[in-house]
Amino acid sequence: MPLGSSPFNGSDSKRQRPLPIPRTSADMTTFTPDSSTVSDVIPSANYGDRSKGRLPDMIVLHYTGMPDVEGAITQLCSAGTDVSAHYIVLEDGRIVQCVPEARRAWHAGVSSWSGEEDINSCSIGIEIVNRGHDWGYPDFPSRQIAAVTALCRGIMLRRNVPTHRVLGHSDVAPARKKDPGEKFPWHSLANSGVGHWVQPAAIVRGETLKLGSIGDDVRDLQLALARYGYGLPATGKYDGLTMEVVAAFQRHFRPARVDGIADRSTFTTLHSLLSSLPAEAIAVAAK
Ligand SMILES: [Zn+2]
Repeated sequence: MPLGSSPFNGSDSKRQRPLPIPRTSADMTTFTPDSSTVSDVIPSANYGDRSKGRLPDMIVLHYTGMPDVEGAITQLCSAGTDVSAHYIVLEDGRIVQCVPEARRAWHAGVSSWSGEEDINSCSIGIEIVNRGHDWGYPDFPSRQIAAVTALCRGIMLRRNVPTHRVLGHSDVAPARKKDPGEKFPWHSLANSGVGHWVQPAAIVRGETLKLGSIGDDVRDLQLALARYGYGLPATGKYDGLTMEVVAAFQRHFRPARVDGIADRSTFTTLHSLLSSLPAEAIAVAAK
């Protein structure tokens, strides 16, 4: 069986372009995909063991942020790049698995969520093919979103991933990352039970907290964001990191305006999310 194919192969359409297989990947041992939604396996050279046998209970969604899919697959699978993901979801809905779920893929980098910093050890990483903010940031095709949703649903069931632990890269690394970005339709995934979501509160005029603000209101905002999971100390000063975390929150939960300014809509949406979290999630986040 040629590399890049599997008995689960669903590539019955002649219109589909063949997947590029990086040269170094030909030396890698192939494996049986973890999900029946996978059409192709392209083993990545870049993975390791999960720390202390940590089982994954989080999904981190990314976009590839590269001009073409060939470059993205090469980057994620070739030895020496030091990056990988468990899955890549193409624009046409095909799903490629690159790292077995049992292994630790290298997708999150320096990150944090709910006090945990080795996000690669506790998560499954999914790269969604999209050129990203630096290359025009196209919409995500509905076929691709359907594939991401089906893949996530299966992982959530198999791995007991709670709804509120399906996150974006920008949530766990807000100072460094914007992906999958404000165009990612979190609301439609939530309609299928994937990800925690509340209808964002309407944007209205009123008081805001922003860069340079100081005081108890800022501290309360920082505590609320940290209680949800964001890695943010409660300093009482609206500094650059606070702005980046607020922008990350908006990208995910209030995408109509991403400006890093905590307006009334941002507060209301954050508090609705917190009040609809399961009790055990708050307990973990408050540790
Ligand atoms: Zn990413």
